[in-house]
Parts: sequence; C-alpha cells; structure tokens
Amino acid sequence: MDRKSTPPPPLDAATSARFQRMPRSSTKPELALRRELHGRGLRFRVNHPGLPGRPDLAFTRAKLAIFVDGCFWHRCPEHGTLPRNNRDWWQQKLDRNVARDRAKDTALTELGWMVLHVWEHEATNAAADRVEAEWRRRVSPATP
Ligand SMILES: [Zn+2]
Repeated sequence: MDRKSTPPPPLDAATSARFQRMPRSSTKPELALRRELHGRGLRFRVNHPGLPGRPDLAFTRAKLAIFVDGCFWHRCPEHGTLPRNNRDWWQQKLDRNVARDRAKDTALTELGWMVLHVWEHEATNAAADRVEAEWRRRVSPATP
C-alpha cells in the first residue's frame, strides 16, 4: 500500500464495512494459493526482497513472479469499485496503484522475468493451475 500519500478521507458506512472485510497483507487468497502450490510440490520465495516490487511469490529458476491482487486496490474489472465519497481522491489513488503495478511488471520483464497476476476473486485451484502451467513451460520448454 502507498504509505506516503495523505491519509484517506472519511468513508461512507458501506465503504468502511467493505474495508473491514478487506485483508491488507498476506491475504487469505494468497495464503490459499501458496498452500495449494506447495502441495503440488512447487517451491518459491515469498516477497523476494531482491526483485522489483517484491512479488508475492517468486519462482527463481523459472523466473516467474506472481502477484495476488486485491480486487479493490488493483481495480479488478469485475469487482473494482470507487467509493461514493471522495471519488476523485480514490480514483487518483487507485490509478496510481495500477500504474505502479504496470511499472513493476515492466521492471521484472526487463530482467527476463514472466509476471502473472492472480485476482483475489479467482478460485484457488484455477489460479494454481495457471501458475503451474506457466511454471512448467518456463522450466521445461516443450520438446520439438
Ligand atoms: Zn475481482
């Protein structure tokens, strides 16, 4: 989260309620994905400090980085909403988040990494399938 910016303006009740339910770090979807991938025998670094953006998961040999994105903070096309109050403030803040996401992607790509984003709304199994498939492609290129 962006800690440098000004504190958020007061929220309407509905938004506050939604925030209460919103996990901030090592979110439940992220933990579930980690558990699932671990169960499949995949090994990865968590919040690798040596990489741009400290990806949630990093498969160093495959050079595959995973971010598990919250629907609100990263503006999921299905669930990304803007609070009714202080709409402009939120619009700018969330736009900055998304711009930062893309900058991280670019920085990682330039280092030869592949970046996958998983939405917090995705089913754990489906997300794990996606990650595992990409990981297999990266560690064992298809035989001719
Ligand atoms: Zn979503």
